[in-house]
Amino acid sequence: MLSLNDPLLLKTQLFINGEWVDGGSGSSFPIVDPATGLQICEMTSGNKNDVNFAVHCAQNAMQKWRQTTAKNRAEILKHWYALVMENIDDLALILSAEQGKPIAEAKGEIQYGAAYIEWFAEEAKRVYGDIIPSNNANQRLLTIKQPIGVVAAITPWNFPNAMITRKVAPALAAGCAVVVKPAEATPLSALALAELARRAGLPKGLFSIVVGVDAIEIGKALTDHSLVRKLSFTGSTKVGKLLIKQCADSVKKTSMELGGNAPFIVFEDADIDKAVQGAMASKFRNAGQTCVCANRFLVHSSIYQEFTDKFVEQAKKLKVGNGAKENVTVGPLINASAVQNVHSLVLDAQKNGAIKVMGGEATELGENFYLPTILTHVTPAMRIFNEEIFGPVAPIVAFDTEEQALELANATEAGLASYLYTQNYARIWRFSENLENGIVGVNEGIISSEVAPFGGIKESGNGREGSKYGIDDYVEIKYVCMGGI
Ligand code: ADP
Repeated sequence: MLSLNDPLLLKTQLFINGEWVDGGSGSSFPIVDPATGLQICEMTSGNKNDVNFAVHCAQNAMQKWRQTTAKNRAEILKHWYALVMENIDDLALILSAEQGKPIAEAKGEIQYGAAYIEWFAEEAKRVYGDIIPSNNANQRLLTIKQPIGVVAAITPWNFPNAMITRKVAPALAAGCAVVVKPAEATPLSALALAELARRAGLPKGLFSIVVGVDAIEIGKALTDHSLVRKLSFTGSTKVGKLLIKQCADSVKKTSMELGGNAPFIVFEDADIDKAVQGAMASKFRNAGQTCVCANRFLVHSSIYQEFTDKFVEQAKKLKVGNGAKENVTVGPLINASAVQNVHSLVLDAQKNGAIKVMGGEATELGENFYLPTILTHVTPAMRIFNEEIFGPVAPIVAFDTEEQALELANATEAGLASYLYTQNYARIWRFSENLENGIVGVNEGIISSEVAPFGGIKESGNGREGSKYGIDDYVEIKYVCMGGI
């Protein structure tokens, strides 16, 4: 059992219209700690009837909410933010237990997730329209921004807290209501957030959560519902494409945060120690399970050996284990099939000539763990160059010229994050402009923040989360033309 200061934050029911209820399917399923394999609790499973009811209540609740002042909405969001920060220890315990990441990282996620609530509380007050100079003297033209309608959010298991706040906070700030379907492996963080939003005074129906084992049924109910006007999804590219298709029938607006394949480019003039520091942070955070994790290290051949040696030296200091234990820096992967997938990429690379410098093996810690792994002599022909690894494996590719580095970096359908280490400012500009990614980290391995726009191009998706642009995804622009003036 989790030892929480406030045991009432551990919820095992759906949250619909401000109430904790059992799911319509009548069944339940276990939520398991990936580090120990032990059951944390039994979770009730929702179905399409729960979705339909939650959307109906959301639509009702929104009618009042959209009429409130932005200041009023901001006050409730700020209260929610304060409660999240007050309960950070409990929230981190819940997160670490269901997801596996070390407690220190879990706390980092709670702070990061809360920062979006605070940010959008502030942004709520800045949803400005325009007065447009007219080309007809008798007219006045203006725009107003209005809440888009009921929002559906489908979120993944790798950031069970922050992926909720990144969507729910801007939606509420804009005046919308949200129905969330969190990942079935990690619903507890989402439910705890809903409980804190309730305590913060958020009116009922504005933030509902439907958890269920049948993601397809729940997803379909959300995308089929005519009252849902927007879907915000974070997850795999495969599921994202499917959901875009499902949304086409009722022409819903979508925001998609899909898979990445981030290049991490190190030039010969880079500060190699800083590059290694950035590589460690970018690659091994959350055991490599983030969509902005460096997926391919492209290193100039003249410093290839030095970079690799220093990277290995640092990676050997990582401590793999149960994230609840002190000093552990790499927790388990989410489940055994994730481990098998990562391992199959390593085996394919080795079969095709890659050299394993460290890791790449099972460990007696259990079937959900994978050791930090570094591979050299990786080439674009290998699966690992082309697929998102989502595990603690760093494949290193050599390049000789700037042109070659850019070509390798862009040789993917994904376009989320990229990283670049060099001291040459002209090259920094060239790469910042020519890399086909939504995010470029220059001499920096950690790039995500609530004040900056997060999102991808190409098959990594559309829409931006955070920043002054983040709220745009939740509003419609209405143009008003006033004649006879
Ligand atoms: P991952 O590989 O990271 O688990 P997924 O895209 O499979 O990524 O999952 C992300 C979210 O999408 C989860 O909440 C999952 O339950 C949900 N999901 C998976 N398949 C579907 C689907 N067909 N329709 C709607 N939601 C889905």
